[in-house]
Amino acid sequence: MLLQLPTEPVSIQEIPVHKNVKLFIKREDQIHPQISGNKYWKLFYNVNHYLEKNPEKPYIITFGGAFSNHIAAVSAVGNLAGIPTLGIIRGEELQNKWRDNPTLLFAKRNGMNLKFVTREEYRHKEKLTEFLHQEFPEALVVPEGGTNKEAVEGVKMMLNERTKDFDYLCTAVGTGGTIAGISKFCEDNQKVIGFNVVNDTSLENKIFELTLKHNFNLIDSCFGGYGKINDENIRFINDFKEKYDIPLEPIYTGKMMQKVFELIEDDYFPENSRILCFHTGGLQGIEGANLLLEKQNRNLII
Ligand SMILES: *Cc1c(COP(=O)(O)O)cnc(C)c1O
Repeated sequence: MLLQLPTEPVSIQEIPVHKNVKLFIKREDQIHPQISGNKYWKLFYNVNHYLEKNPEKPYIITFGGAFSNHIAAVSAVGNLAGIPTLGIIRGEELQNKWRDNPTLLFAKRNGMNLKFVTREEYRHKEKLTEFLHQEFPEALVVPEGGTNKEAVEGVKMMLNERTKDFDYLCTAVGTGGTIAGISKFCEDNQKVIGFNVVNDTSLENKIFELTLKHNFNLIDSCFGGYGKINDENIRFINDFKEKYDIPLEPIYTGKMMQKVFELIEDDYFPENSRILCFHTGGLQGIEGANLLLEKQNRNLII
């Protein structure tokens, strides 16, 4: 079974703000119940092209951390399409603890095989990838976060007639595939802002290599580091949910929206700007984040 194009476009909702700009959020998190947000589009051509070429004995292999939205998404694709999947997971210590991790449990229940490797091994992903290509020459090996050229092509589907109507397009940035696709396929008059949640100085170059355009810039939204959640982040997410009835997760979309609010407050956007933020999904991560917060006796995400 190939990934399908949705029959209806996802909604674009206005978020009322007190300044003279218009803010909207495009609910890519609603694209699919299990394969949410940008991961759906990043996998779209990767999986479909692969299945068209290898209908007989498909096998999908990929990489990720213990809370990875990408691992969750690939496992769900495997389950829906009846394809065996293998997830290479960072952290040997999880070997006997995966049942305590909602993301890994979800992946397992979707039939994904999990192979746990040390952080050191994981750092040398290129070597691992080479090895996997030799060992499983027919398999589709998707890089970490799903970012590659086909992923960038898939992100084009997050843009449509309605998204042309905005001056700024905003997205959270992890490995850079999503912003690269938005940058590559948006209109010439649109500006793209990436809210990077990972401290990685090579990101800008990586993104440029995928889009070959200079229409984007990155705004540091790490808030203390990738995967780190501070109390203000939690407060913001819970407040946002209460006010607008839109859930955000703490690793990507929560940090992006918090930063967007800060920018609006600081008059970063010219008057009358129309701003569109992509809700890239990842809500499966909330449960795992709450388990950690609970252990630390901190407020939870509602
Ligand atoms: C993976 C992910 C991102 C980042 O996408 P990249 O293409 O890796 O930059 C943003 N938001 C959510 C919810 C994600 O899961």
